[in-house]
Amino acid sequence: MPTIFTRIINGEIPCHRIHADEHVFAFLDIAPLSRGHALVVPREERAMLHELSDASAAALGRALPRVARAVMAATGASHYNILQNNGALAHQAVPHVHFHVIPRFPDGSGLGIRWESRSLDAADGAALAARIAAALGS
Ligand code: AMP
Repeated sequence: MPTIFTRIINGEIPCHRIHADEHVFAFLDIAPLSRGHALVVPREERAMLHELSDASAAALGRALPRVARAVMAATGASHYNILQNNGALAHQAVPHVHFHVIPRFPDGSGLGIRWESRSLDAADGAALAARIAAALGS
């Protein structure tokens, strides 16, 4: 079953399109957190970011600042958040990679953030950094 975003990309479901290239498609979110809230989606249908091909990842990296610039220019916003959810626990509803571009306005509209930071244990931090670096092959 194609995802709803693949169906949008294929033109089966309408959207307010703002960008399309070989690897990337972007359109306005149907339930925006603020005016200009947009979604940037790879044509490649993968649920999570780490599953993407390098080609899609590179194209997303190129498209995101361009879309952000255009959304800011069109809305007059000067602050914004980029949000990218992976998995239901991380608030992902549509299992097709997407980046939210969410303008933040002085009236408070935009992404609400709960940022409950903890302190990093030095020993655990050292062990964890070594494990992650090893997994990266760095
Ligand atoms: P997430 O929670 O990161 O998976 O976000 C999915 C986003 O997709 C939500 O912000 C929805 O409002 C948006 N969305 C779902 N269906 C559509 C649609 N047909 N057109 C535009 N945006 C959509």
